[in-house]
Amino acid sequence: FRGVNVLREPKFNKGTAFTLKERQIMGIHGLLPPVVFTQDEQVARVLANVRNWDEPLEQYIYLNGLQDRNEKLFYRLVSDNIEEMAPILYTPTVGQACQKYGFIFRKPRGLFITINDLGHVYDILCNFPEHNIKAVVVTDGERILGLGDLGAFGMGIPVGKLSLYTAMGGIPPQQCLPVVLDVGTDNEKLLTSRNYIGLRHKRVRGQRYDDLIEEFLEAVVRRYGQNTLIQFEDFANHNAFRLLEKYQNKYLTFNDDIQGTASVAVAGVIAAMRITKTKLSENKYLFFGAGEAAIGIAKLLMMAMEEEGVSPEEAREKIWMVDSRGLLTVGRPSGGISKEKLQFAKDYKHMPSLEDICREIKPSVAIGAAGQGGRFTEQFIKDMGSFNERPIIFALSNPTSLAECTAEAAYVHTEGRAVFASGSPFDPVSLNDQVFYPGQGNNAYIFPGVALGTIVAGVHHVTDDMFLIASKVLAGLVTDADLAEGRVYPPLSTIREVSTQLATKIVEYAYDNDMAATYPEPDDKESFVRQHQYSTEYESFVPEIYSWPGVVE
Ligand code: NAP
Ligand code: MN
Repeated sequence: FRGVNVLREPKFNKGTAFTLKERQIMGIHGLLPPVVFTQDEQVARVLANVRNWDEPLEQYIYLNGLQDRNEKLFYRLVSDNIEEMAPILYTPTVGQACQKYGFIFRKPRGLFITINDLGHVYDILCNFPEHNIKAVVVTDGERILGLGDLGAFGMGIPVGKLSLYTAMGGIPPQQCLPVVLDVGTDNEKLLTSRNYIGLRHKRVRGQRYDDLIEEFLEAVVRRYGQNTLIQFEDFANHNAFRLLEKYQNKYLTFNDDIQGTASVAVAGVIAAMRITKTKLSENKYLFFGAGEAAIGIAKLLMMAMEEEGVSPEEAREKIWMVDSRGLLTVGRPSGGISKEKLQFAKDYKHMPSLEDICREIKPSVAIGAAGQGGRFTEQFIKDMGSFNERPIIFALSNPTSLAECTAEAAYVHTEGRAVFASGSPFDPVSLNDQVFYPGQGNNAYIFPGVALGTIVAGVHHVTDDMFLIASKVLAGLVTDADLAEGRVYPPLSTIREVSTQLATKIVEYAYDNDMAATYPEPDDKESFVRQHQYSTEYESFVPEIYSWPGVVE
């Protein structure tokens, strides 16, 4: 790389930070204005630029442009201002971006692999310019956040997630590959939209769909090796569970909607136990929703309760679920129940109303993950407050508009006694001279660290144990001061350190259990993890010059 191409390649470009010497050596002198800025000065300028836009979607577009222009500066900006940037790059703004992906589309990022490419998936992977891929995030766009089927517009999700892999976990961007598997969409609005960028037909399902998934996984391993992490993201419920079960012992893979969500939610519950001074197994859990998130959380909670010494049956008894047809019971009038749900179905009378169910069961922990905004009503919250000194209320549905209740509602209707967390961020709430900082049960506390740990150790599988370890590490990083302010998670601004700690524990676990393939085993796991992390500091383009004895220079 020399000349103008240096400025066009985002992984090399430093813009106005190229020094005079570098400009001359690289053949770009005169192509830049004469000023030389430091990276700090550039960060201040781009931050001001982001803040200049009124609309989050405009900020998103600006950040995308920066990422396409000067990658190190982009990641420096995001890493240094994570609390401000995460809601733009990820939920909630990324949801808006996905809904308008075709309209705001500028430069392609990642790989679009379609059902028409069956038989040629490996060739498409070979077209991707980076060769040392360690982490793939893939979606088929069928259940984007809580927004439903967005088809190829779902690309915003793997792109956004992988930006967080780098900004929050330190996984180098050149090792990340975002993929959309486009099998069509059942979203009528998109099928008739002039701006739609995907295949214009209904979703292909059945054997051909399965063949595409299988071919894709095989091609990734053939191209990048067995130790390539493949994260499934925002697949619809039926495929998510099915594919996880089919592949979790065959590939290095996990489903963040099921397992990452489980891990972050359980971490929040574990931390909340320090407030209620109870054991997990002494609580009663009511889930609103019985999908990927809820079932994933419930299963991991069971594992955690079993570690406390209770039997699987006792643990299961503590967990009650509500789906779109009401309380999850065996022998409900409307028939069939999936395998995943069946394990939590109770032999109990049929009850359709969430408020009635809450009064009947009297849970100590309520977890919302149904994607139905506002269903933790004032009455529901007051009831939770009447059975519990410190009711634990998690409104996990994303984006913000779909949260089961707002942070304010949770605090106001319980006189500030609720232990509250949400999926999307809420502003702090002032009540009776106290300020409450609601915790954000953001999967981003988990997946970058778990991914980093598995990549660094070179494990073959991501196990459920790893997600429970992650929950405990994360809960352990919550300070008493955090709890006093109402947070059951550490501040988002510390997430880079959280990921490093988490990855270190995963690496230790992998070596202790003969799961690590990276040899030799490093003595100091933490510094080993740190060595693998991406640095946002600019590299020097001035070659090292040295002389030979007796040779004229
Ligand atoms: P999912 O697999 O589609 O599950 C949705 C569940 O909600 C299903 O069990 C569904 O019932 C139930 N449901 C739908 N409408 C309902 C209603 N009116 N009353 C009661 N239950 C209803 O989706 P998911 O992946 O679990 O995601 C659910 C929500 O959680 C989304 O909003 C997502 O953004 C959010 N989420 C948050 C986080 C986080 O904060 N960290 C992580 C992942 C997901 P049926 O089974 O009867 O259809
Ligand atoms: Mn997701």
